[in-house]
Amino acid sequence: MSDDFEYSGPAIQWTLAGDDATQQEENLDKVEESLGFDHAQQLVADTVARQALTTVLDFTSKMVAQRAHVDGIWHKLPPMDRESGDQMLATLKQMAGLNVKERRQRQEGSFTALIRKIKYKVRLVSQGVKTGERVAIYLDWKRPIPETLDELGMRPSAFDQLTDVLRSPDLGMFLVTARPGEGFTTAWRGVMNACDRLVRDFYVIEDATNVEPEIINVKSITFDSEAGEDAMTPIPNLLLKEPDVLAFTDLPDGTMIDKVINLSCDHELPVFTRIPGKGAVDATLSMMVMKPDRKKFAKLLTGVACMRLVRVLCEKCRVGYKPHPSLLQKLGLPPGRIAQLYKPFIFKPGMLDEDENEIERCKNCCGLGYRGRTGLVEFLKIDDEFRQAMISKPKLETLSAIAAKNGHITLKQEGLVLVAKGTTSLEELQRVLKA
Ligand SMILES: [Zn+2]
Repeated sequence: MSDDFEYSGPAIQWTLAGDDATQQEENLDKVEESLGFDHAQQLVADTVARQALTTVLDFTSKMVAQRAHVDGIWHKLPPMDRESGDQMLATLKQMAGLNVKERRQRQEGSFTALIRKIKYKVRLVSQGVKTGERVAIYLDWKRPIPETLDELGMRPSAFDQLTDVLRSPDLGMFLVTARPGEGFTTAWRGVMNACDRLVRDFYVIEDATNVEPEIINVKSITFDSEAGEDAMTPIPNLLLKEPDVLAFTDLPDGTMIDKVINLSCDHELPVFTRIPGKGAVDATLSMMVMKPDRKKFAKLLTGVACMRLVRVLCEKCRVGYKPHPSLLQKLGLPPGRIAQLYKPFIFKPGMLDEDENEIERCKNCCGLGYRGRTGLVEFLKIDDEFRQAMISKPKLETLSAIAAKNGHITLKQEGLVLVAKGTTSLEELQRVLKA
């Protein structure tokens, strides 16, 4: 054996590749005796602990470089020596039913790992590249998705303000925004779930080629864009059912926005829609860029909700520090009230503490400093002054200034609340808001 590495982690129950249960068990017997088994177990356990959806191993002549994709960010991990790495890979390939000797052709296989009662599917893809061999490890499991805005991290007082608008009989048009791939669907579901779907009949009108996961008590009506239909096609039939609220997942242009506005006004129907965007004011302007009837749009719009995701500091290893009063002042945080802020502890192998003892990697976050994400939810209530500016001066600075003057709390301010509470770090908030 190249080293005396021993697996330390939770018990894992494996279901490896093989045609039937007997073969799978024979495979497991062989794998358990292999030289790379401890490292392979550690890799799978770490991947699960990090919740890394993708981990990439690059086998070059000198070493095995590793990186993991966690909560939207690539993390460089400490490299492995080639000998241990080769042994580990041989074991992993055997677990996934791949040819151990094949290091050039693309191969793909999978196995499952049961850890703490949760079943993880691990998919392995290996392929020869110029510098050697690249192996990608994909992790797949049934993750519980937060369904409500308070589960997503919205402040209770902001949530109350939002539900007041959502449940008002004069809802008009409500807009939801987020960045695609960063909670776009989650924000939409969160807003729908904050509505009173039990007492009103909700319908979502969506393209058959792009149907969202079902929301309880929201009926889905589809149209076929490939057959030339659009969101208005199912409306005449739908109106016969006397819906209370309509939701449109995608309004592609100003003409379609105008049709929805007219529909809403003619039938006194509240409508929801969504658009990709960086913030609530920004998304309002993005709708206006599509050139709907500006006056009608401004009159009908009552609120915009925006959600972004920020990583949550690992509670086990976050590091407190005393912020300089000038920093707090710059951030607009009350200097007397905040004794300390927190930053992540980023682990590097070989780090020593004050007594020159080697620091162990945090088990809770695998040394990444963060564990999981929470939502930053911004809610913009549209008032008459804002509406007037939408018509006469639709510029980001003007609209943002009016919103601020009338008590709107921006994403940045919402984020600073989380920074002050130690939920996230200042640098994480800055990273998210810059993107
Ligand atoms: Zn930690």
